[in-house]
Amino acid sequence: AKRSSVEKVVEFEPFMLFERREKADMLADLRQALGAGQFFPAYQAVICLEDESIIGAEALVRWQRTGHGLVRPDQFLPTAEESGMIGELTEYLLDRVLEDVKMWRTAGLVTNAFKVHLNVTSRELHDLRFADAVLAALRHHDLPASVLCLEITENRLMSGDNLHRYTLLALQKMGVEVFIDDFGTGYSSISYLRQLPVAGAKIDKSLVDGIAGDSTQESFLRAISDLIAACNLKCIVEGVETAGQSAKLKAMGFTTVQGFYYAHPVDSAGFSELLIQGL
Ligand code: C2E
Ligand code: CA
Ligand code: CA
Ligand code: CA
Repeated sequence: AKRSSVEKVVEFEPFMLFERREKADMLADLRQALGAGQFFPAYQAVICLEDESIIGAEALVRWQRTGHGLVRPDQFLPTAEESGMIGELTEYLLDRVLEDVKMWRTAGLVTNAFKVHLNVTSRELHDLRFADAVLAALRHHDLPASVLCLEITENRLMSGDNLHRYTLLALQKMGVEVFIDDFGTGYSSISYLRQLPVAGAKIDKSLVDGIAGDSTQESFLRAISDLIAACNLKCIVEGVETAGQSAKLKAMGFTTVQGFYYAHPVDSAGFSELLIQGL
């Protein structure tokens, strides 16, 4: 007889044990990785489309894990979040990125308008001390709040959440910009834009992928960007991979982009070089 899905039982598979061990190993490694200095920010250039200059950088965390090489965030961030260590990791990265921006400013490699973008989770927004920690870090490095932009992935944001609102308002008051990340992929995008105190939205790569050939995709992207503009918010388009996409975006009136077509994420030294040599 055919079994209904309700009756389906989870059968034991050897890989489950393996996965559980992998995860336990990762947790143990993650705990000591912070102290061992194994995390570092990779920087991807944020580009002004008009003159193709570098106007900022997004910091993307990397883990140099002993015995595993370079590990990408998707592979360890979920575990870091579950374990509760993400807050510590964010504060560590914040310190590192501000140190780097200070260095680039002092060396004259960037103007005062240069912004560094750091990804944060809704967990950090839930921490009442987070805004103060950001302010303390800025003071420590003697930098104005305007150098920093925080990116939050919208699918975990809740506009009705008072703690989120509290932190977002505190950051806004300080002068730190907050962007909604991966915009155009969630369900409640529109209400977030209208209800949360944010400075802008980053349009997800998936909305850019087909624009060079597909007019439906183009109309959709235009609708999303009109929505952002209607809320008086800034907008960055991510995931630009080809000259065709870049030309299209420029023709559509977009001003700020990111993507492999312009630059891949590189470590701090690599980004210094990029700033010196240009794209
Ligand atoms: P995201 O914030 O949407 O970042 C963009 C991701 O797309 C990055 O992957 C970047 O390397 C990649 N990317 C950039 N340009 C292109 C392109 O033109 N084509 C393609 N195919 N990919 C491109 P990455 O570094 O693996 O990061 C994945 C995600 O992990 C990020 O997505 C972000 O949500 C999260 N993440 C990264 N660093 C941090 C961090 O320091 N803290 C937190 N909380 N999350 C982070
Ligand atoms: Ca991001
Ligand atoms: Ca994205
Ligand atoms: Ca993302």
